[in-house]
Amino acid sequence: MYRILIFVLSISFSQNVIYNDFFTDNTLRFDYFHSGVADTEHVSLDELRLEGAWPGSKTNLIDEMHLGLYRFEVNDVESNELIYAYAFASIFGEWQTTGEAADGVWRTLHESQRFPEPKQPFRLVLKKRNPNGTYNTIYYAEHDPASRFVNRFPMGNNNKVWEIFNNGSSENKVDILILGDGYRKDNVRQFKKDAKHLVGVMFNTEPFKSRKSDFNVWAIDVFSDETGISNPRQNVWKKSALDLRFNSFDSDRYVLTFANKNLREIAAQAPYDAIMIIFNDPKYGGGGIYNLYSTVSSLSSQADYVFVHEFGHSFASLADEYYTSNVAYQVSLPEFEPNRPNVTALFDPDNLKWKHLIDEETPIPTPWGQAAYDSIAVVYQQKRRQMTANGVSADEMETLFEKLKQSTIPMLKSQKYYGKVGAFEGGGYLAKGLYRPEIDCIMFSRNRSEFCKVCLEAIERMIDWYVK
Ligand SMILES: [Zn+2]
Repeated sequence: MYRILIFVLSISFSQNVIYNDFFTDNTLRFDYFHSGVADTEHVSLDELRLEGAWPGSKTNLIDEMHLGLYRFEVNDVESNELIYAYAFASIFGEWQTTGEAADGVWRTLHESQRFPEPKQPFRLVLKKRNPNGTYNTIYYAEHDPASRFVNRFPMGNNNKVWEIFNNGSSENKVDILILGDGYRKDNVRQFKKDAKHLVGVMFNTEPFKSRKSDFNVWAIDVFSDETGISNPRQNVWKKSALDLRFNSFDSDRYVLTFANKNLREIAAQAPYDAIMIIFNDPKYGGGGIYNLYSTVSSLSSQADYVFVHEFGHSFASLADEYYTSNVAYQVSLPEFEPNRPNVTALFDPDNLKWKHLIDEETPIPTPWGQAAYDSIAVVYQQKRRQMTANGVSADEMETLFEKLKQSTIPMLKSQKYYGKVGAFEGGGYLAKGLYRPEIDCIMFSRNRSEFCKVCLEAIERMIDWYVK
């Protein structure tokens, strides 16, 4: 009993960290190398880097949502108190689930975590979440903020920072930063047009539409020597400023950059909580990793949809609700409930995490025409793989997307439980064993331009975290 009481007290105490007792107004960045194979990983320090003003909340300092694969914690050495914590996912964590990592090929990726600069010596702790919800510590070190080893070199100011809209102090807003890749200096008007258009689409989509006043959106003019980005499958190599590439983890449409240090130095010129990168290329593609960044090709006809979908990943740790696409990861049946807000393994239907959104008369699991849907979608995916292998044009691929839409929209809409929250089998890259909250959602298909009610709630929870 005594032990339990102590535990409860320490939790509530850590929720009440007073910002000014522990932190300056600046941002400190922990840069490190993350190396390993599928079942082993090591973290080694690159450097601590002082950035500009802290743009995050000064009230919410300890994240207890426990999303993502990793947790980053800062402890005050003198009092041993937890003073800052938040969750994230990483490219390294995704890479560990690829065949290459399973084959024992070691790789190193550069990563950064940002936090308010502590006034006193602090301890940095990186933890990795196990599927059962427990954590393993993978990095642990004490640092002195007054040390000459903290890189205090002035931040660059070579690029023009401008605002798309500004609703007030960064401390109480979600600050989104738009960066462009594959735009030449003479494409500056195109970059501004693309950035404003895509941001406009997002803020016409709920919950962003109703919550617009909780956001600031910034952009930085970053120019490349050439137009477009690298596409290794077509042996196209472009010298783009952020080094975005198609075919990340050998998945054709998956676009990431591995040049993290460069990205962070550029981004640090503006206040930001979330980075969205748009790239000047007609080929369909994108990516989004929780608390890292999202990417989208601004010239693809699907750009509007992808921009919002990928932000669902990078901002709120939403899972993909689709399951028929080819992905780079090796997916196995879950043994534990996934820590994603919008998919469930349904091990305990009576305590489903989105139970409060389900009508009494909706059965769990909820029936839907999965066999009919799969017969269309699986054929489409086979065709798409074949076309990708043959390197067909972006236009031909777009025509195929349109055909899929036309045949699946009426089929999904005719389902009895369309638009209702339930537990529909198929989600998170698995046709069986994982369930999604609604028949359709931005995280499920390109059919619908709205998030399902469970995704909406997860995004709103995240907005609340930043603005309080
Ligand atoms: Zn959803």
